[in-house]
Amino acid sequence: MFDNLTDRLEGVFKKLRGTGKLTEENIKESMQEVRMALLEADVNFQVVKDFIAKVSEKAVGLEVTKTLSPGQQVIKIVHDELVELLGGTTEQIRLDGRQPVTIMMTGLQGSGKTTTSGKLAKILKEKGRKPYLVPADIYRPAAIDQLQVLGERLDIPVHPSTTDMKPVEICRQAMTVAGQKGYDTLIFDTAGRLHVDEALMGELKEIQSAIQLSEILFVADSMTGQDAVTVAEKFNQDLEISGVVLTKMEGDARGGAALSIKSVTGKPIKFVGIGEALDALEVFHPDRIASRILG
Ligand code: GDP
Repeated sequence: MFDNLTDRLEGVFKKLRGTGKLTEENIKESMQEVRMALLEADVNFQVVKDFIAKVSEKAVGLEVTKTLSPGQQVIKIVHDELVELLGGTTEQIRLDGRQPVTIMMTGLQGSGKTTTSGKLAKILKEKGRKPYLVPADIYRPAAIDQLQVLGERLDIPVHPSTTDMKPVEICRQAMTVAGQKGYDTLIFDTAGRLHVDEALMGELKEIQSAIQLSEILFVADSMTGQDAVTVAEKFNQDLEISGVVLTKMEGDARGGAALSIKSVTGKPIKFVGIGEALDALEVFHPDRIASRILG
């Protein structure tokens, strides 16, 4: 995760750490290197530009303090700005308020929606909730089976969806069943396509108008970098998502999606998928990730 970026920044900071006095010239030089490192990590161009402007502004005029050299202070500024870039504070999923909690999982096919639905249900069950998994992808019968298998493994009930029902009807029916059986958290696993298309969005909007949703999570494969960001923006424009789940983060050496998606969409990353196993989903902590990036 972020390995390339960490390596690149380590080189920049090595030089800065030893610097007793900073000149505008060596700040400029370091910022140029940080800029290159971020671009190589596939961070959105405008995001990089704003980031460098903010760090440079804060770095100019730094003086040696008792505890930190100017070089160390620049590193701290970069750290703090990285935390901001990643979303600032940890954003938990909304579980209080209106019950049952209803979570719609959206995203392109193969992004990890079904797997993440199972992983999320597991986390929620461990928190004492009573999750109900609802397959709402009627186009790939295998998707319904996949969720049923996950449900069995996790000992979590799965709605008996069938491909002859419309997704919105499945969701409505699942709400009724949840009411009868006392399930307090519904996770709707919706269909994905290879590309964004209007039929897909129409279907999701229909669910959105029929069910009062607590969360609309956009699930994206982090390895797709800026494509993930572009698709997230589109989903956000159409559906007003409430958060993002970035999957396959453990294999993403660059981290461009993670570092751009909050700035571009304004919506926080709430979870990251870090493996295929059912316990490989973690709450996203911007500060921990920033520290990890800086090595
Ligand atoms: P969907 O089409 O969006 O429902 O995607 P799936 O849930 O079927 O996931 C597609 C593939 O990605 C499966 O092989 C999953 O095991 C895999 N996958 C999902 N999340 C992760 C993750 O965080 N890390 C890794 N390595 N694989 C993942």
